[in-house]
Amino acid sequence: MKVCKFGGTSMANSATITQVADIVRADSERRYVVVSAPGKRTSADIKVTDALYACHRERAEKGSCKEAFAVIRKRFLDIEKELGIDISVASELDAIEKAIDAGASADYTASRGEYLSARVLAALLGYEFVDTASLIKFDKDGALLLDLSLDNIRDRLASVDRAVLPGFYGTDNENEIKTFSRGGSDISGAIVARAMSASVYENWTDVDGFLTADPRIVKDPDIISCLSYKELRELAYMGAEVLHPESVFPVRTAGIPINIKNTFNPSAAGTMIVPDGKVPAAGGKVITGIAGRKGFTIINIEKDMMNREIGFGRKALSILEYEGISFEHMPSGIDTLSLVIRDEYLGPHAQKVVASLRAALNADNIDIHSGLSLIATVGHNMASRHGTAATIFAALAASNINIRMIDQGSSEMNIIVGVDTFDYEKAICAIYHAFK
Ligand code: ASP
Repeated sequence: MKVCKFGGTSMANSATITQVADIVRADSERRYVVVSAPGKRTSADIKVTDALYACHRERAEKGSCKEAFAVIRKRFLDIEKELGIDISVASELDAIEKAIDAGASADYTASRGEYLSARVLAALLGYEFVDTASLIKFDKDGALLLDLSLDNIRDRLASVDRAVLPGFYGTDNENEIKTFSRGGSDISGAIVARAMSASVYENWTDVDGFLTADPRIVKDPDIISCLSYKELRELAYMGAEVLHPESVFPVRTAGIPINIKNTFNPSAAGTMIVPDGKVPAAGGKVITGIAGRKGFTIINIEKDMMNREIGFGRKALSILEYEGISFEHMPSGIDTLSLVIRDEYLGPHAQKVVASLRAALNADNIDIHSGLSLIATVGHNMASRHGTAATIFAALAASNINIRMIDQGSSEMNIIVGVDTFDYEKAICAIYHAFK
């Protein structure tokens, strides 16, 4: 049995939804289907989820969401009419608009895109619509209660042969709608796949699979035919946008493979994501992919003999903890320790954090540099193999790129370099061609 998840571009309009229904019907194993809200129909279009957040903002500013909601109304009325289904979408829309105007939360408002999208596909396929609201549960701090959610889904679907479920949301301890972070329908799909012990979790999107590098930077990068959960985590976290980085957790423990597929090219094999250690030998390929992110700041702390000072690292990190800031990397040397932090987290707190570090650490020098980008070169074949780092560094040196930071994970499966953001694209091209 397969669980499928279809993303926003697959659910964008009546024509693409028809294609989705054809894909589902083409394989009787595809019994449980999770959907996103309709996405963009053209590059200039707006995603339904973004339009719903706009409704929530308009209501906060003007007391009513009338103008912004007209966009939502038209999209779903068109979809219902063009597909020739009847889900009483007009009265559903009236009720949703009323709820937003009455002060519904941003999470509730945003969740209605997935809710209506699932209602539409369920009607078109003749499958049961099963709402995830009471099934996927979060605690009072917004953390997913995975075991409870799995039990709920198993119980609810035990007697349902085929169903369509909305992605992206569940409810909290007070039964209020709570959404995952953006792109979170991927996580919902993974939870359903795990609950129902699917043989595969098919994640249908609008690309042929994970690419070895960002196609906006590198011309015609190859498709990765197979990668491991760990490699996926590294690549997705570092910016490869195909799949939500957290969607691997629910399926990983059960060893359920994820197959990235293209709704607009369904016969393409896509990318398989399989348990660590189960990736077939890739004909001597050393790296699996390269991904990167812009927007980091590095705080360098220098103090002679810091390696002997017990508690030095703890003191530095406790300042970040106190300010509620998470860090990404902490490369260190004998007398130096650096903290690499996302700009979006450090932002306005930067000077305060540096001042607190100065006060607490009695360091010889603390400086701060923004404009850092990180690039991860990922590949399970890199482990216990010499020369990979040399190839990366030689490629960067040959392109006159200065490396600001180096970090290698203990699994030896990734090498991360920090470069100035103005060198970012050049650095990715240099590394890519060095391994090509
Ligand atoms: N519709 C939500 C978003 O745009 C969730 C999803 O598509 O996965 O982020």
